[in-house]
Amino acid sequence: MTRAGFVAGNWKMYGNLVQNQELLAAIVLGIPSLQNASCAVCVPYPYLAQAQSVLKGTHVAWGGQNISQHHQGAYTGEVSAGMLTDFGCRYVIVGHSERRTLYGEDNQMVAEKFHSAQEQSLVPILCVGETLAQREANETEQVIARQLDAVIGLVGVNAIKQSVIAYEPVWAIGTGETATPQQAQDVHAFVRNRIAAHNSEIAADIQIVYGGSVKANNASELFAMPDIDGGLIGGASLVAAEFISICFAA
Ligand code: PGA
Repeated sequence: MTRAGFVAGNWKMYGNLVQNQELLAAIVLGIPSLQNASCAVCVPYPYLAQAQSVLKGTHVAWGGQNISQHHQGAYTGEVSAGMLTDFGCRYVIVGHSERRTLYGEDNQMVAEKFHSAQEQSLVPILCVGETLAQREANETEQVIARQLDAVIGLVGVNAIKQSVIAYEPVWAIGTGETATPQQAQDVHAFVRNRIAAHNSEIAADIQIVYGGSVKANNASELFAMPDIDGGLIGGASLVAAEFISICFAA
């Protein structure tokens, strides 16, 4: 496989200055280098400066968990892509299922956020995934196709090249219930094929990572699947030893 691996931690709304310092220092120490893989942590906004100061010059990149689709303006409480680049971010998560479900972000808005990120040279980590009800109703592929098509429709398939796609089945996030490697592989292959319908080279090159209860003890078998290029890690990214060993599995 020529594609490099990629692992990103999604800290969600956890941490404080003291704990972060310990976690970041341990991660830097544990990941002096990676072979054919890279890694990043996506931290809450107030801690971007802290992440930047600890991670600058290391093998660990950093990023945000969300951005506004707007560049500036009267949008109280929002944070723009440009503000993230001010703090050296390389990545930003867009369309996480918690944003879609709890904050009403629809496919169009997620596509606009994706576009905004790229306009500021951030690499968007685009999350797609179905709920349990959708899986049980056999709608997984339609749901993911709609999520993906909204982005390709807005930015074009060439822009997809500078992004990472994260398949995160909603029923597997934070539940301890991981998709089986084959279940995940099937959806990853579907995503890759859908992109291949536009451009096969981009489809072959793009990193598609899996998220949903990835731990140190199940990462290797997931990442061994042909279309799974790494992971987006929630809970386990808050434990240095877990996160480090997942990074090395990629
Ligand atoms: P989890 O979260 O690893 O805790 O399941 C993954 C995510 O929400 O990105």
